[in-house]
Amino acid sequence: MRMYDIIEKKKHGKKLTNEEIQFFVNGYTKGEIPDYQVSALLMAIWLKGMDKEETLTFTLTMAKSGDMMDLSKIDGIKVDKHSTGGVGDKTSLVVTPMVASLGIPVAKLSGRGLGHTGGTIDKLESFDGFSTSISEEKFINNVNEIKVAIAGQTKNLAPADKKLYLLRDVTATVDNISLIAASIMSKKIAAGADKIVLDVKTGSGAFMREEEDAITLARTMVDIGNGYGRKTVAVVTDMNQPLGNNVGNILEVIEAIETLKGNGPKDLLEVSLTLASQMVVLSGKAEDEKAARAMLEDTISSGKALAKFKQFIEAQGGDSSYVDDTDKFEKAPIVEKVVSEKSGYINKINTEEIGIAALILGGGRETKESVLDLRVGYVLNKKLGDYIEKGDVIATVFANDEDKKNQSVKRFLGALTIGEEKAQVPKTIKMVIV
Ligand code: URA
Repeated sequence: MRMYDIIEKKKHGKKLTNEEIQFFVNGYTKGEIPDYQVSALLMAIWLKGMDKEETLTFTLTMAKSGDMMDLSKIDGIKVDKHSTGGVGDKTSLVVTPMVASLGIPVAKLSGRGLGHTGGTIDKLESFDGFSTSISEEKFINNVNEIKVAIAGQTKNLAPADKKLYLLRDVTATVDNISLIAASIMSKKIAAGADKIVLDVKTGSGAFMREEEDAITLARTMVDIGNGYGRKTVAVVTDMNQPLGNNVGNILEVIEAIETLKGNGPKDLLEVSLTLASQMVVLSGKAEDEKAARAMLEDTISSGKALAKFKQFIEAQGGDSSYVDDTDKFEKAPIVEKVVSEKSGYINKINTEEIGIAALILGGGRETKESVLDLRVGYVLNKKLGDYIEKGDVIATVFANDEDKKNQSVKRFLGALTIGEEKAQVPKTIKMVIV
């Protein structure tokens, strides 16, 4: 088999065989096929697409290119949750303790933030002593004992995807639905859970700007998961504004804790309850979403979810006293009000720009090597549809440097479109795809 012929075939829009897909994925992972040939093939795939069968083969070949986690030593049905990434998205911190407090095992591998989006691993490191690089044995023991563990992805999980993603990133071939779906699902399948709930974000802060594209991506991933016998459900949710009010690592952890205490913002609670309900139904603990939701609401009002969160933080070496007293978290040295320069309704938010404003403060990662300041970020007190007068406080900025703060606030204010007529506020939950 020759790589040249595979490129030629896809260039003409022809379907690749399983053997051809395995040949290029495995060959590239082993370093036997050069970047320039794989780049050409990726562009041909970007232009001509892959059908359902090709996408499934591509996904499974990447999933099997490294370690496949074996979670069979964990009792019960293991359900995973994954978000395609957004700004202010701290749902994993709310969903995992809620679901685990119902006795459902949650064995989750999470990532770090990159670019304008945040990551669960960075947020969890807000707790002094908390470790996400735990051994597989401890990971499995923790899930068996307390029903929840969250770890960073090991180096050898879907290494083909790691290598291909880096190449896609520099060859303008990231934004293709088959490639994204295969990339995400290869890692989810290798991570070993029996059932998967996906939060597919759409809007100005998401990979998929258009709802239609988000729905297609969701459908593609659900078909891959189901095609491999891992029951998968996707919820398409809004990312036309940050989720909740807090953006920035420690600030987001505090908001997640407040949500577990019953004081969370409506949109964050709604997304968390919707995702968690799907997980509970998939686990077989509840007959339908309504029953699941009632059980989950009770985990908050009874304090069970909060207690589970504390237990989880402690089990991975963190200091859970911060949960009782969030004032213990370190504060940024500069805390200032951000005031509006105009009067009117907040009609649009360029959410990616809000993520970049937080990144400029030092809260996000420009490159994989960037060191984060977990203290910085924004707390919004106005969101889409709110009316503001010129001079009203829209947000509070938490910064560590005057110049960075000024640059960031300019970007933050520039992200808002303020108009005289109130525009329609997008729905938080768009669709559930099974
Ligand atoms: N996230 C991934 O893991 N892969 C992609 O291709 C895009 C987003």
